[in-house]
Amino acid sequence: MDSIFTKIIKGEIPSYKISENENFFAFLDINPNAKGHTLVIPKKQVDKLFDLDEQTYTELFAYTKKVAAAIEKVIPCNRVGLTVIGLEVPHAHVHLIPLNTMSDASFSKPKAQLSQIEFIELAAKISKAMDS
Ligand code: AMP
Repeated sequence: MDSIFTKIIKGEIPSYKISENENFFAFLDINPNAKGHTLVIPKKQVDKLFDLDEQTYTELFAYTKKVAAAIEKVIPCNRVGLTVIGLEVPHAHVHLIPLNTMSDASFSKPKAQLSQIEFIELAAKISKAMDS
């Protein structure tokens, strides 16, 4: 069965897309810890990150590095943090979260509120920063 993320990759469910290539896809988390919270996923649907084949695993992190650099260009922050959870969506993914305080890394705190326009503009800005 297709995961919600596979449906996003296929365009069956909308997303605030930042970038994609043949094997990976990056988009804004719909319920962000902080503005710019991004998910990077392999197109290959595998539940657990550490079950990915070696090549996909390595290339995912190389791609994630590029996305993180673009986020840092757009979002003023102390640094971009990386978290792996996967308790909600059984499709391997990496969370990239702009961090200013330790609480930005917490998934329990009140979430950042963005309008649809803000999501669209933010995804476009980070996407553009990936090319520059
Ligand atoms: P986890 O599987 O625990 O790492 O959490 C899954 C993450 O995916 C959460 O931060 C959700 O807010 C996010 N998420 C779930 N559905 C969507 C969606 N349709 N678009 C963007 N982000 C999503």
